[in-house]
Amino acid sequence: MQQTVDVLLKNAIVLTMDDNYSQFEPGAVAVSGDSISAVGPEAEIIQAYAGKETIDCKGKVLLPGLINAHTHVPMTLLRGLADDLRLDVWLMGYMMPVERRFVSPDFVRLGTLLACAELIRTGVTCFADMYYFEEHVAQATAQAGLRALCGQTVMKYPSPDAAYFEESLGAARQFIQQWIGHPLITPAVSPHAPYTCTQEILQATAALAVEFDVPLHTHLSETAQEVINCRNENGMPVIPYVKKQNIFDAKVLAAHCVHIDDGEIKTLLHHNAGVAHNPSSNLKLASGFAPVKKMIDAGLNVGIGTDGPASNNDMDMFEEIRLAALISKGYTGDPTALPASTVMAMSTRLGANALHLGHLTGTLEPGKRADLILVDLDLLHNVPRFKRDKNSIYAQLVYSGHSTDVTDMMVNGRWVMSNRQLLTLDESELIKQAQDYAANIDIFLIQREKSVLSKLIAIGSATEGESFEVQSKVHIKDRPAILEILEQNSLEVLHKRHYHEYDTYFNFEDSQQGYLRYREDEYIGDDDQVTSIRYRLTLLTPAREFSFPSEVILSRSRFLANATHSLRFYREYFKPSGEITIEKDRIRWRVLYHGTEFYINLDEVTKPALGCYLEIKSRTWSRRDAENKAHITAEFLTSLGVRLEDAEPRDYIEIARSESH
Ligand SMILES: [Zn+2]
Repeated sequence: MQQTVDVLLKNAIVLTMDDNYSQFEPGAVAVSGDSISAVGPEAEIIQAYAGKETIDCKGKVLLPGLINAHTHVPMTLLRGLADDLRLDVWLMGYMMPVERRFVSPDFVRLGTLLACAELIRTGVTCFADMYYFEEHVAQATAQAGLRALCGQTVMKYPSPDAAYFEESLGAARQFIQQWIGHPLITPAVSPHAPYTCTQEILQATAALAVEFDVPLHTHLSETAQEVINCRNENGMPVIPYVKKQNIFDAKVLAAHCVHIDDGEIKTLLHHNAGVAHNPSSNLKLASGFAPVKKMIDAGLNVGIGTDGPASNNDMDMFEEIRLAALISKGYTGDPTALPASTVMAMSTRLGANALHLGHLTGTLEPGKRADLILVDLDLLHNVPRFKRDKNSIYAQLVYSGHSTDVTDMMVNGRWVMSNRQLLTLDESELIKQAQDYAANIDIFLIQREKSVLSKLIAIGSATEGESFEVQSKVHIKDRPAILEILEQNSLEVLHKRHYHEYDTYFNFEDSQQGYLRYREDEYIGDDDQVTSIRYRLTLLTPAREFSFPSEVILSRSRFLANATHSLRFYREYFKPSGEITIEKDRIRWRVLYHGTEFYINLDEVTKPALGCYLEIKSRTWSRRDAENKAHITAEFLTSLGVRLEDAEPRDYIEIARSESH
């Protein structure tokens, strides 16, 4: 007596990707409802089952749908926006500012649909995502008919969907409550990374994941710098640090794990954490080479991911699978490392396990959800075929297969692609809408890139503010003499400081942009040792506001901010047309002269060797106040025995530039 099933797939090369790598040729798969009823040799299956729909697979490969173990699907809309940059410049300089401005439920929805179309075409039935407005990723994915682990992002910075982390944590809780138990979507929480999260966030997200028994999807140990910083700040590398924050109480999916040692691999294994290896992203951002062979040998569930399409720039799993195999061989110097069968397992069974969805998908076995694809190997780039070695079929898929060889896809028992036709999505409409989005983002960035000031504001580290100063600078020939006069003068000294200043001035093609000065102040204590260091960024506008008689000028600096990034970051982000370095030794006094507060700087400019200058400055707020102070400044200078004719109206940068010509 035959049992009736919904779909019977016959005449296929069935690769089950189960623990024994069972293959059936010709093989058949019986699907009932959302699940697989039976898998086996064709003769056995068609004897036992009758399908309401019977598909002749015509000798194609039938295997579980691929698992993209780490991505950020809505970022398809940012594909190709900024490339060939370092991770921090790419992320802080471009991605995050554009995301803050553009990412909305509508953006996320469109980006996800676009991604799903691409994922279906490249054989991916299930992916692990991490983004903002994750409920809209989930909705769009369910609409496309794909399976996903969707993680709502939580981090310490303001994000497009939350001003504070408490807000995004609340959103994550609500998201999990809403989607838990959905047939296609598994909700998760995603603390972005240890370096974008506080300890409190890591602990709170871990507790949330444990409370609902959902996975926690995060980025760990992506770059060597991350590990160095973690060691400096926490006295330990990344894995032990996040363990201390109870992360591994949850079911963890850790993206990257590029820079981890043997002990850390053991910790991941001990806590059954899954790892997502992202070969393209690691190569493109020069993050390094993950110890994938070691992790696999240790028994870790390592899946393969594309990472977000803004850093890849596509979601072609066939390319990732091939790269994973090739890189591992090149990196270990061992051509037997990660054979084709292993990387195919990584992109199916092990990937599903890494997502903690191994009970649902990743293999063709009775009871699992019917997530499967058909791949046509009978194409020019992939013939002939040898049958002597059972593993050669995996080699064919990995080394000569293309994503375009995928012809059909079923997810959860429902066809989403048939004979290369998408059944749930309108490709041409999605492409058109994506182009419209790109045009708007282009306008925004073109506008922003025109002005150094708006670029400075975009990275969020500075607040706009103006300060006006009345100032005069005089070239001094005899520094000790002036120092003596200043020390002996009966000035009321409010404060005195000694420091070394290292200034890097960026200049730009358009001189109206002014100079951006990166300043490193080393405070020098009484024993001539450096006591502390301060980094600041100042945007200096080109034109001085006004000149008073006696070479006293009113200057304006428009922007002052703590420099939270490295000089290298600012250089790569602002792309100045040139730069000049000025080093000086400065003694600075804050004094009262006839009741007016002045700053006195006695500078010895050592690089370039410009000699000594005495600067006198006072903050001012109105034109009348400025005129009054200009008068006092001139008087003050005269009282110090300085000749006003020696006044130097130019900034150091201008003096240095004229000297260098
Ligand atoms: Zn990522």
